[in-house]
Amino acid sequence: MSRNKIDRRDFMSSSIAAGSSVLLAGEAGAAGSEKNVEPPSSETATAYTGETIQGKKVVSRLNVDDLEVGQKHFLYFRGVEMSGGQHWYVSVVVAKGGRSGKRFTLTSGVHGDEMSSIRTVQTVMDRLDPTQMSGTVMAVLDIARPAVEGMQRRWPNSGRGADLIDMNREWPGDENGASATSRHAGLLFNRLLKPNSDLAIDFHTGTTGLEVAAFLIGDRRLPDVKTMAELYPVGLMWDDPAYPGVLHNAFVDVGIPCFTPEVGAARVLDRDMIALFVEGTLNILKHYGVISGPMGRTANDASMYIGNAAFPIIATHGGLVEFHAKLDDDVKAGQKIAVQRNMFGEIVAEYTTAVGGKLAAYRTDASSDPGNVLAFILFSQPNSVPQDGVHPYSEKSYPE
Ligand SMILES: [Zn+2]
Repeated sequence: MSRNKIDRRDFMSSSIAAGSSVLLAGEAGAAGSEKNVEPPSSETATAYTGETIQGKKVVSRLNVDDLEVGQKHFLYFRGVEMSGGQHWYVSVVVAKGGRSGKRFTLTSGVHGDEMSSIRTVQTVMDRLDPTQMSGTVMAVLDIARPAVEGMQRRWPNSGRGADLIDMNREWPGDENGASATSRHAGLLFNRLLKPNSDLAIDFHTGTTGLEVAAFLIGDRRLPDVKTMAELYPVGLMWDDPAYPGVLHNAFVDVGIPCFTPEVGAARVLDRDMIALFVEGTLNILKHYGVISGPMGRTANDASMYIGNAAFPIIATHGGLVEFHAKLDDDVKAGQKIAVQRNMFGEIVAEYTTAVGGKLAAYRTDASSDPGNVLAFILFSQPNSVPQDGVHPYSEKSYPE
């Protein structure tokens, strides 16, 4: 970027670094006459950067009200700048209904190895006919761009040599934050996600090496989250707000009900499981009047089990792990879940669950060193009071 195209984000951070507002104010003034200047975050109109990439127009801010009704719009959102001077561009599809109504946002790719989450959102968008819709559905598909390129969970960052940042601990981000990941999150949240959402769903899957059952994570104390969750024909729900810094909580914190569906294993497209989550998402759009049509199967049909706690089974040794239970199994307290063998084939550890519940995630990488999560059991803990010998889940055991 040349100096005469400096944008206001650069201006803000440069003025902090240089401590000189006089010179930089002059530059910002010059920038005001340039096409590529991003509007300040207080502005609300769509800002086209003037770029077109592979036939798609590029925006640095979107207001879905500015888009023509009765159409699907395919755009790139210009995210954070890379060290080479180019930007990461995020794929955005907006189905703009012919009539007014709720504005839904569907996100995927916050973790880069979660392919079924992307395909679920793509499939929902394929099913929409904007000429028949009331309201808007916006899909933001490949949020952590460099992580998606690498088919890996975390964002490769160059801050202090090679580093990896989990983008789902960065929300709502900060446009002037201490990493490109935080800034990318801030740009997306302030200029795309928050301004265009009445309700949102952030799709994930398990992570590389740890597969999950079809389940939902969200806070059922929020009426819209409870309503939406009950429209998914999946077997498990973890009734929990999860962590600060995850995208669905950033939405909730600004008054936009949101939760996270988990669509099976990372790295693969699980077509059966994708179909369940597409069905549930279309149910939600029907319930809120965005589309019409008969309701599909729901949580009732799947006899959804709702737990409010997760018991992690942590490897105590190194070696190959063999499971004696499958995903979705009902397990009883004391039941053997897995054994671990050393390289001689001798059993070095047997793992049991301290609680009864549902096997909701297990390690699919067959070997493990000590300290890794091997499985977690979703269970109900009355009033969330810890039981003897049952340790609450930790950040490390969080499956998505
Ligand atoms: Zn994830």
